[in-house]
Amino acid sequence: MNLSKRVSTLTPSSTLAITAKAKELKAAGHDVIGLGAGEPDFNTPDHILDAAEKAMKEGHTKYTPSGGLISLKEAIIEKFKKDQHLEYKPSEIIVSTGAKHALYTLFQAILDDGDEVIIPSPYWVSYPEQVKLAGGAPVFVEGREENQFKITPDQLQQAITNKTKAVIINSPSNPTGMIYTRDELKELAEVCLSHDLIIVSDEIYEKLVYGENEHVSIAQISPEVKEKTIIINGVSKSHSMTGWRIGYAAGNERIIQAMTNLASHSTSNPTSIAQYAAIAAYEGPQEPVEIMRRAFEDRLNIIYEKLVQIPGFSCIKPQGAFYLFPNAKEAAEITGFRNVDEFVEALLEEEKVALVPGSGFGAPDNVRLSYATSLELLNKAIERIDRFVNNHK
Ligand code: PLP
Repeated sequence: MNLSKRVSTLTPSSTLAITAKAKELKAAGHDVIGLGAGEPDFNTPDHILDAAEKAMKEGHTKYTPSGGLISLKEAIIEKFKKDQHLEYKPSEIIVSTGAKHALYTLFQAILDDGDEVIIPSPYWVSYPEQVKLAGGAPVFVEGREENQFKITPDQLQQAITNKTKAVIINSPSNPTGMIYTRDELKELAEVCLSHDLIIVSDEIYEKLVYGENEHVSIAQISPEVKEKTIIINGVSKSHSMTGWRIGYAAGNERIIQAMTNLASHSTSNPTSIAQYAAIAAYEGPQEPVEIMRRAFEDRLNIIYEKLVQIPGFSCIKPQGAFYLFPNAKEAAEITGFRNVDEFVEALLEEEKVALVPGSGFGAPDNVRLSYATSLELLNKAIERIDRFVNNHK
């Protein structure tokens, strides 16, 4: 039986592939340390669990409006006001089944066949696939390591053609952990405005920012930029709620309404109970968010210093999110592997440490290592990687 052309061009997720292999080894009784996870290792805070239980008991177990409960939209609007001084109306917000589905629906709503979307690399694995599924063409612009993996306004300018419809900004970034400053965003926004581009601003790691760094949304640059920006965010990473599947998009009313129409024919609505949980996440105490953020920052500071001691590894210190994205090209070379992909595969086979090769993120010389796991396991993993490199030198 033939599959559609649409799905046959899909690339399987490299993150999931390595996780599957790690699980296989674990099931066979091996002591595997998985550093592939894209989710916080904490449980969802108790007051959020309580709100979900209460919602169920009170019978909030039915369909909701397709674009989400008005009370959740109001909680999101308050959050935007408080955190970013941005004003939105309920008609400018759609709640969706995770930030991932907000992005998916967005590309379906704005792209026609052949429309180009500029994706800075390294990029989150789903962007190119989602753009292709909507008939669009991903155009990659390399965020160079010497520029903290960020793209420059000149690079952006050069990638624009008369088919360019949108550009994606993901700050803090998965996989690099880098954050665009206000000035950098201002310069990129000027280029976007002069070409009338839609700015897709994925801010899912907004709350995970370390040291002196701060998160600025590109929509905060000016009202004109806000009008061209669709912000994507959600509770998955901030409130350790990946399994609840609540994300959202905020921006231009026509786009949001088109997305809502699409959602009404695809998901109907995000899970009712999870929406009540998300209201509690935003309206309840925010201390748990800060406690988790601090735990990630502590781990980063400890693990980073150890990682850069491993022969052949070099790494820019991440500013946010929960990933390290070291360059391991030299490590692969000195250990006799042809490339980083092979190095990662052998490391899993031999030392049972699962990293995600950077090739899936458009950066084949790098590897992604998630520190959303206990310090004890992280220390053990670093020891094993170090041993692996030294044994093969
Ligand atoms: N955007 C980025 C950059 C991500 O890393 C992820 C999850 O890994 C998402 C969006 C999707 O988040 P959600 O779990 O809310 O769908």
